[in-house]
Amino acid sequence: VTARVRLPAAVNAHSHAFHRLLRGRTQDQTGSFWAWRERMYAAARSLEPESYEHLATAVFAEMVVSGFGAVGEFHYLHHRPDGSPYPDHGMELSLARAAQKAGIRLVLLDSCYLEGGIGQPLNATQRRFSDGGVRAWLRRLADLRAAVAQQFDPEWVRVGAAVHSIRAVVPADLAVIAAELDPDLPLHIHLSEQPAENAQCRAAYGVGPTELLHRSGLLTSRLSAVHATHLDPGEIELLGAAGCSVVLCPTTEADLADGIGPGVELAAAGAALALGTDQHAVVDPWLEMRALEYGERLRSGIRGRFTPQQLLAAATAGGRRSLGLDPLGPEQGAGSPFLDDWMEIRTDTVRTAGAAAEQLPLVATAADVAAVSIGGRIVARNGIHETLGDPADLLEEAIAAVQQQAR
Ligand SMILES: [Zn+2]
Repeated sequence: VTARVRLPAAVNAHSHAFHRLLRGRTQDQTGSFWAWRERMYAAARSLEPESYEHLATAVFAEMVVSGFGAVGEFHYLHHRPDGSPYPDHGMELSLARAAQKAGIRLVLLDSCYLEGGIGQPLNATQRRFSDGGVRAWLRRLADLRAAVAQQFDPEWVRVGAAVHSIRAVVPADLAVIAAELDPDLPLHIHLSEQPAENAQCRAAYGVGPTELLHRSGLLTSRLSAVHATHLDPGEIELLGAAGCSVVLCPTTEADLADGIGPGVELAAAGAALALGTDQHAVVDPWLEMRALEYGERLRSGIRGRFTPQQLLAAATAGGRRSLGLDPLGPEQGAGSPFLDDWMEIRTDTVRTAGAAAEQLPLVATAADVAAVSIGGRIVARNGIHETLGDPADLLEEAIAAVQQQAR
């Protein structure tokens, strides 16, 4: 009998499944986020519904064996490379089927992406992201919700909304979204990941990105700001006062040299923190929790900025709130089926032996996850998926197939 501790399954509040193609393939590169983005765009050009379903199944399986019970997939690979639509929501339903096969709960955050940058047209790669206009996006979103509701159980697959960033949607369209988007839908946006976004926003509109969202009427408790790395005190105050969620992606932010966001200050101001693996440099809720705290320590010179319990809350209840899986809020969500999702951690491995159970967020890794249960069914044991087998095999096959196609 192995020694184990049972904890709630983690929630991955920010994912781009196709970024998994880039793991271990950009580390020969110097420069900033913007140089990395060129490689990411090359990966984005190569995917079709069938190959994406394969890849996403493997990536979601990796999440499941690592202890995630739900994922918010921030999705913008909507259309064919030339911008024309696939029939019947080809890419979106591929992601939904992938989640179903992997046995993970999916909130598909369908993203409005209309501009190539502030004052810039879409480039050749970005064409497939765009619906051509904000109302066309709203119409496709409504249609997608109906299609998903028809084909999938809402406890397993739901549609949410996203605005890619204030770089990709102009203020007039942000206001349309604030006025017309169903208020029940969670809404995510990439916010101030890079200083250049803040500078461009101020140059074009005279205010920073957070203030721009505030003026557009988008700063409400259903909004999740992803990254929120480069904020001034006034912006932190705005996000906190509005009761926004903030999705931090500490391993991605380290990998892309984004910077360390003001997590402690945001939480103190009233924002609810969640965690995401974003570009999947690693898929491991434990490393994400640890990276959040380690970033804070390196930034402040102080240990224990977050308690282990606060880190675990960000990885679980915070994610459920961000994705709208706890409509009553984390405290009042008793009876929610999502609370029955759990993972068991071995406490007798080389990493965890001798550790106090409540300090596991600073100790364990995904390799210590002995079992994962989602929706009352065991879906993974010791790194192996119950129905799909070893996610490493799935990933190897799916990535090789995409690379073959790209050649
Ligand atoms: Zn992202």
